[in-house]
Amino acid sequence: MRHITTALTIALVSGVGFAEQRNAGSHVHGLNHATIILEGNRLQIAYEFPAEQLAEQGHDEHKHDEHKHDDHDEKEHELSEQLQTIESIFSMVRLHENAQCKEIKVTHSVTQVGGNDKEHTGHYDALIQATLECGAPENLANLSFEPAFEQFDDIEKIEVEGVIGNKALSETLTATSPSLAL
Ligand SMILES: [Zn+2]
Repeated sequence: MRHITTALTIALVSGVGFAEQRNAGSHVHGLNHATIILEGNRLQIAYEFPAEQLAEQGHDEHKHDEHKHDDHDEKEHELSEQLQTIESIFSMVRLHENAQCKEIKVTHSVTQVGGNDKEHTGHYDALIQATLECGAPENLANLSFEPAFEQFDDIEKIEVEGVIGNKALSETLTATSPSLAL
């Protein structure tokens, strides 16, 4: 169990490593990834999704088309700005109130889906990483990603992985089944 914790912690702590690790996986529209680590009172949540999801959030299509031929930097900049409007991880996940978890740090990043993957040229992944301190982590009985499903119409499923204390976590959630027991 220890080695799982260490690997996930390292991946989370170094944001770049984490993004690269994810990019090595798949960029599939409709599929989101969440990583959750609870160690003592500290809860870390990383939420990654295809950045196209942001564009479909009330952004009008015509404006999007005009930007088609602009360079990558501008697209990346625009996506970053849209991502930063999601100020809190609580826009994605709901935790039990009694666990008294407070967000102490949130970071946002947008990375281009890399390498020789021609199919995904011009596609980006968005990542939100949050660190929380929980006053009573023993009350963290479940997590719900209902807010994410409400925020984005086009999420098919969310793959959740993590470590809660000494228990490994791996579940796939859908809009009809958005929560998991810890
Ligand atoms: Zn894409």
